[in-house]
Amino acid sequence: MYVLDTSAILSAKFFGSDIAIPPAVLKEIKKGGMAWRHLQYMKAIGLKIISPPKDAIKLVKEFASRTGDLPSLSMADIQALALAFHLKATLLTDDYSMQNVAREMKIDCKGIMQEGIKEKFYWRYRCKSCGRYFDEYVETCPICGGEIKRVRR
Ligand SMILES: [Zn+2]
Repeated sequence: MYVLDTSAILSAKFFGSDIAIPPAVLKEIKKGGMAWRHLQYMKAIGLKIISPPKDAIKLVKEFASRTGDLPSLSMADIQALALAFHLKATLLTDDYSMQNVAREMKIDCKGIMQEGIKEKFYWRYRCKSCGRYFDEYVETCPICGGEIKRVRR
């Protein structure tokens, strides 16, 4: 069985019929959109909406505050983690913080677009003014003094 997070629904990919989501994920899907229509289809073929038990939610919050991921988790993320833990299901998510907490809680976890947590993010830094790239973090551009933003390699 798979537990899907919001990004898994938004991906509009097919994950079979043995799938579940918590109510908070349902709330994050805008009615009438493509993801919503995809959700209706998944419901028709067997998707279940299950509320995770309170103690599982509490446990997720405890682990997430220990790993420092709690501030980046939405209620839907927390519920999805708790549900995967409760059902002993595989969690499908591309969210780095969710993957991190899942790993700590020994929840089986798979990425949707990415390879999962084994793939590390590598960042570069780019000057907003002159467009130069830097491999290491600089506060301001050493060439022109421009603002720096972080970009994926
Ligand atoms: Zn610059």
